[in-house]
Amino acid sequence: AAPLAIVRGAGAAADAGIIMRTGEAFQTFRTVTRVLLDKTGTLTTGRPVVSELCPAHGVAAEELLAVAAAAETHSEHPLARAIRDASRHQRLELPAVTDFQATTGFGVTATVDDHRVLVGRPAFLTANGLDLSPVGDTIARLEDDGHTVVVVVRDHHPLGVFALADALRPEAAQVVAALRDAGVIPVLVTGDNPRAAGHIARQAGIDEVHAQVLPEDKADLVGRLQAAGHTVAMVGDGINDAPALMRADVGVAVGSGTDIATESADIILVRDDLTLMLTAREISRRSYRRVK
Ligand code: ADP
Ligand code: MG
Repeated sequence: AAPLAIVRGAGAAADAGIIMRTGEAFQTFRTVTRVLLDKTGTLTTGRPVVSELCPAHGVAAEELLAVAAAAETHSEHPLARAIRDASRHQRLELPAVTDFQATTGFGVTATVDDHRVLVGRPAFLTANGLDLSPVGDTIARLEDDGHTVVVVVRDHHPLGVFALADALRPEAAQVVAALRDAGVIPVLVTGDNPRAAGHIARQAGIDEVHAQVLPEDKADLVGRLQAAGHTVAMVGDGINDAPALMRADVGVAVGSGTDIATESADIILVRDDLTLMLTAREISRRSYRRVK
């Protein structure tokens, strides 16, 4: 495109708190028919809190919390931050941690006090060959309540389960309604469990939900919608959203997102405010309306 077309709307966008990294995607924004929204950190505040701590039989709550917080020391995931905050509130002394490894969309692995520890979603642990039956009922009950569930395993034995809850962003329902009014179909896509996903989708007013979706599969979903003739925007904040942000016709990263998300996006919302998405769409419409 001509340089002039690329800068069109950029000034107005910057004033509103919107950075457009590619003019082409900005121009495409007005023609988007589907908007995929990530759950954790995008539709929600991304500040989940530990709402329940369920140690396995014979395990002290403090021990469960300390081990999990230690394993999560180096994770930048919002759930990791919530677990660390909970341990800090109780002023727990954390054991030493080495060999940290994060698996995007699943959880973390680390050596804590010479023990192998895994923290993550139930599917992550069962995929690693672990038997979660001792805490199976607890997991089912918490997921039924719409919680995000994280399991802690030490040396192949479940230490316990965390339930975490995250609030919908105050403007989320209004933005979803405005998108719908504009003829754009909102879709929720998340790595979290279907109950937690449905819980947030209902509050936001979203009918189409894709839960337990791995990062690569988020990108595949974008591709499938494109193949069906849709022009797709993806809105996300995390490492796990990066492939989908790249694949989408328009990738939108929300403000406090990780560096990898903002680097993969076409448009960055500077403030943590989803209404900026509507502003971006409006500026795109105004700027490119009569352009051939
Ligand atoms: P979303 O798509 O909603 O942003 P993610 O793909 O980041 O969610 O994570 C999906 C699930 O993987 C989480 O709900 C959680 O169960 C698990 N998970 C991911 N990272 C971590 C972590 N650092 N600690 C514990 N659990 C994690
Ligand atoms: Mg997220």
